[in-house]
Amino acid sequence: MTERPKDTADSTLSVHGGERWPKPNDAVTTPIAATATYTFKDTAELVSFMEGELDREEYGRYGNPTVRALEAKCAALEGTDAALAFSSGMAAVTTAILAFVKQGSHVVLFRDCYRRTRQFVTATLDRFGVTHTLVEPGDIDGLAAAIRPETRLIVSEAPTNPYGNVLDLDAMVAVAKKHRGVKTLIDATFATPVNLRPAAHGVDLVVHSATKFFGGHNDVLGGIVAGPSHLLSLVKEQRDVLGGVMDPHGAYLVLRGLKTLALRVHKQNATALALARALEAHSAVRRVWYPGLESHPSFNSASRLMKGFGGVVTFELATDLAGAGRFVDALKIPRIAPSLGGVESLVEQPALMSFFELTTEQREAVGIKDSLIRYAVGIEDSDDLIADVLRALEQV
Ligand SMILES: *Cc1c(COP(=O)(O)O)cnc(C)c1O
Repeated sequence: MTERPKDTADSTLSVHGGERWPKPNDAVTTPIAATATYTFKDTAELVSFMEGELDREEYGRYGNPTVRALEAKCAALEGTDAALAFSSGMAAVTTAILAFVKQGSHVVLFRDCYRRTRQFVTATLDRFGVTHTLVEPGDIDGLAAAIRPETRLIVSEAPTNPYGNVLDLDAMVAVAKKHRGVKTLIDATFATPVNLRPAAHGVDLVVHSATKFFGGHNDVLGGIVAGPSHLLSLVKEQRDVLGGVMDPHGAYLVLRGLKTLALRVHKQNATALALARALEAHSAVRRVWYPGLESHPSFNSASRLMKGFGGVVTFELATDLAGAGRFVDALKIPRIAPSLGGVESLVEQPALMSFFELTTEQREAVGIKDSLIRYAVGIEDSDDLIADVLRALEQV
């Protein structure tokens, strides 16, 4: 069910991957099973279930047919045995990490990553006696040096948020394999399986914020963890305890979104690359970070690993906080909002959003310039989006 035929094109897999036939009432789409619990006919049926003879649902926190349908599609797209769905990307990240650490364990995290993931590893886990080492983006030697006997997990994003760094996954897996009991986890939210399949490079656990490209319509929160069954059973045990399960209505929206995943991502790849090139050629732009540009430090590994480079372009304007704000305000098409990967283009100035409470100097220290912009392209016409950006750059 979850095997990914090598020659199945992404669009076909997005529509048909993981689908089971026939569906209830011979429906084409997966029905929403809006139920919190499931009934047993009699005590004999209950006993047969408890003894493991019967494969069926029991209670909503442990499973739901709509959520399982989504999980099967995600596993098909990632080319893994299985997948698990969560209430948000952060529920997926934190539950997956908690499944593999205990007091005294050590985690290696690549520094450039989603702010809340870094907070979870450096602050939350720290409170429970799980230590960590932060490694610079792409630094495989630094990774090898950071491993200790108690290291259990290597965590990175590919590409990273917000700078689009793409780690050499084969080299990372080779380092992990030299040590017993070290698992690798890649948050591939920025890539999607259309552009990168970390499991094909030997990565143990693949995580997504389904809020972004998977849902694709800025209308649902969700998270996914994909991987081999023997590891996902450990993650599921923690999900059953912690309770960050996806709701069946949310699962329906993500399933619906996934059917157009390849269509959307191909379009977003093309628009983002064209936008990145136009920005790089403009005098009001100091620097552009997009892994598909030759100037990006990860260009070589990104080109080797990825089929496309994703829909997020990060750039620094040759101006200050206020000048960057004038640029954002002059844009007519994208909305100002956090998030990415949806059909609507979204723009944000991280200094005014996630890093608002810091001073300019403190932001510089964590690598966020005041004039930094993160532009998440949607599926609008590429020429319209780029013309809008070029016009707004005149305000800088
Ligand atoms: C958004 C995001 C998350 C968090 O996902 P939520 O669905 O907002 O909880 C984690 N990792 C990356 C790379 C993200 O972009």
